[in-house]
Parts: sequence; C-alpha cells; structure tokens
Amino acid sequence: MNYFGGIEAGGTKFVCVVTDEGKEVLAETRFPTTTPKETLGRVVQFFQEENARLPQPISAIGVACFGPLDPAPESPTFGYITTTPKPGWANTPVVGPLREAFGVPVAIDTDVNAAAVGEGVWGAAQGLSDFLYLTIGTGIGGGAVVNGRPVHGLIHPEMGHIRIPHDLADDPFPGRCPYHGDCFEGLACGPALMERWGVPADQLPPDHPAWQLEAHYIALALQSFICTLSPKRIILGGGVMQQAQLFPMIRAETIALLRGYVQSPAILEEIDRYIVPPGLGGRAGVLGGVALAQALFRETRQA
Ligand code: ADP
Ligand code: ZN
Repeated sequence: MNYFGGIEAGGTKFVCVVTDEGKEVLAETRFPTTTPKETLGRVVQFFQEENARLPQPISAIGVACFGPLDPAPESPTFGYITTTPKPGWANTPVVGPLREAFGVPVAIDTDVNAAAVGEGVWGAAQGLSDFLYLTIGTGIGGGAVVNGRPVHGLIHPEMGHIRIPHDLADDPFPGRCPYHGDCFEGLACGPALMERWGVPADQLPPDHPAWQLEAHYIALALQSFICTLSPKRIILGGGVMQQAQLFPMIRAETIALLRGYVQSPAILEEIDRYIVPPGLGGRAGVLGGVALAQALFRETRQA
C-alpha cells in the first residue's frame, strides 16, 4: 500500500491530509496561515510525524495552492508563490522545501485547478473530459479541465478577474478588486457582498435582494466561460455557494442570458445537472492535492 499527502494551501488556512491510494483520509490537520517559515514548518512536521506512524512513508505530495504561483515544471521558479499581495508570501518556494524534507515527488497547481482535478477523479465531474470548477469565496477563481487536463496556458487562468457588465445605476458599489475595481471578483466575492450590503455574506437572509444580484453576476460570468470553454459541466463551490438558493437562480439566469444560442440539451433540458455543487464538498481542495500527488506518482513510476 502506498500513502499520499495532500495540502490545501490557502490564504487564511492550511489543511493537510494523509490518504490511502484512494481518497480515504487517514490523518488530517489544519492551522492558520502565518509566515511562510512557520506555516511550511508545520506542514513538514505533520508529515514527519505521520511518516513515523505509517507502515511506509508517503510516496508523493500534492499541493492545491493559493496564488498567483508558478506551476511550470521547466521554470526556474517552479513551485513558487509569485506576486501575491499577502504579506511575506511573495516569491516563496513551496515545492522545494517539501522535496528537500521528504525526497518524494511533489506536485503543485492552483487551488482551483487541483479542486477541478479532484472533482474529475472522485466528485461531480467523474468521466468528463471538459468541465469547469469555479469557487466563489474570499476571492473568485476557476479551474478548467480541457481535453482531460487542467489548463495552464501562459501562467494559469485568472477567471475571477474577467470583466462583466456592471450597471452603476442598479448597483453603485464600485467593486473591491485592488487591481480592477469592478471585475467579476471585485463585484461578486464574499467580501464584496459584505461591503455592498453592510452585513457579512453568511448573515444575509435567503430572500435578500443581494442574492438575485449575485446570481446575475455569476450567470454573466458563466455565459462567458460557456462561450469560451464549452464545458460539459460547471461546478460552483466556495463559501458563498453555501447559499443553496443561488443555484436555481443562477441556472435560470444563465439560460436567459444565453438566449438559446448554445443548442445543447445539457443546458436547455438538464441545467440542474449542468450547474452543480462540488461532489467533494469542502474537501475538494485538499483531495485535489491528493489527486495531483497520485497522478504524479503514477507518471514518475511509468517513466
Ligand atoms: P476561502 O475563499 O477563503 O478559501 P471560503 O470559500 O469559505 O474560503 O469563502 C469565504 C467567504 O465566503 C467569506 O467572504 C464569507 O463571507 C463567505 N461565506 C462563507 N460562508 C457563507 C455562507 N454560508 N453564505 C454566504 N457566504 C458565505
Ligand atoms: Zn480583478
């Protein structure tokens, strides 16, 4: 039996798990994100302690990481968090220290790409070659799987920062993205809900007008993603999507915005199965890390 390590490296907290060769979690820890030295130190300590307990040490580690980061293996800064505004974390190597500590293959991808991979293996996108995972939480990010592989492109997609129509008469809130103001994330992330309405997003009642506007913004973004990526399914996760009433609103609004132009029964007849919550729930990120680790382990063994 081989064992695997998964890490969800988030801007506010880290989650680490040890699994078997599937997604069975054998050990788990979580702690707040502080300095890189202290936080990565706790990661190393956790896996060292688990290694001492396991019949054999973990075979590979996968990191679902906040970004922006460098996911290109051939790059000199591969596995670094690069330009983040998060204090202390710009230009921080994440993969290097783990490889050094454990001498095993270490995979890394954006938190959303990793979550997408995990959803493809065990969650709501099993068997699909092309789909999208979008998280709406403290920030907004998307991981697209195209032809069975997460898209990286030049660096990696930043789907939260697309522009969407913003009617200032209807919604005078200027948006809160430090780079773009009223980009998708600036208008529709959890903190934007709080700033616009003066109440934390999780305390807005389900019938508050906030949710219709939120569904409208999300559906505008989905129209763009459907028209550019042609996903076979869209998974919506993150804290804000715990407002389950958003799903039917987003589905209806997406159909309305597309105006019948994309002629697929998946959208026109089966929208309830097309726009869905994550199959792995809140564990999509960390199990995505595990899925990356297992895939890299298989590749390394074949090479
Ligand atoms: P992160 O994006 O930091 O990884 P989350 O996906 O949990 O974490 O997103 C946190 C954001 O989601 C916060 O802005 C919070 O207000 C919002 N949020 C968390 N729970 C809910 C909820 N039940 N309803 C609406 N918004 C929520
Ligand atoms: Zn932006």
